[in-house]
Amino acid sequence: MTMKFRLSSEFGELSPVRNWQPHSGIDLAMPEGTPLRSLGAGVVDRVFTSGDSIGKGLSVKLDDGSRTIYGHMSEVKAQVGDKVNAGQLIGLSGNTGNSTAPHLHFGLKDAEGNVLDPTPFAEPLANISGDHVAPGLIPTLMSNHDSQGLLSRFFWSTGIREKTGEILTEVALGALDVVADLLAGFTLVGSAIMILLKIGGWRDGGRWAGVLVVANILLRALLNNGGA
Ligand SMILES: [Zn+2]
Repeated sequence: MTMKFRLSSEFGELSPVRNWQPHSGIDLAMPEGTPLRSLGAGVVDRVFTSGDSIGKGLSVKLDDGSRTIYGHMSEVKAQVGDKVNAGQLIGLSGNTGNSTAPHLHFGLKDAEGNVLDPTPFAEPLANISGDHVAPGLIPTLMSNHDSQGLLSRFFWSTGIREKTGEILTEVALGALDVVADLLAGFTLVGSAIMILLKIGGWRDGGRWAGVLVVANILLRALLNNGGA
């Protein structure tokens, strides 16, 4: 089933747009001015302005202390201290803050402020956004008045620290591979140059060529051992 709004950036994604910091939430591409509604019941505890990197937006503190964060709006339709129900209009989507195209950024934090993976909510969030909300979708969410139903679904989702660790390990291993490949290439090319210099009459060329050939053989042995 296709989503009502496309997931344009996944949780944890690395991109130069965010200075290679793992994406702290999910992005849903949607036209500017799309009505946005709160996923859970709670109190607006923070409003962001266009000067913030998240742009205009807000944070809704749910009853258990966890927070849902909405960003890059064109207009915020609530104030700090407002009580909101699940499905209540909280703003219009936009392209404010550090954003390259109109989209909704959605983030989730637990009561301690740890970032959680909000991916399981991508579809419900898409479903309750926009002019035409299919009948039945909001009432289902509104039945979770204590927000516990909302958060309990997160207990099986991966925390950002775990996911970030995996991504950084992948990046580091990839970088090591590249460095090792470069070194291997350097020793190979270097030994060829030294052999040419030796032919050209440089006395030490042959000796250095030998050193580089041995270094290349050792590197290859290391690469084959390490490269699982
Ligand atoms: Zn985002």
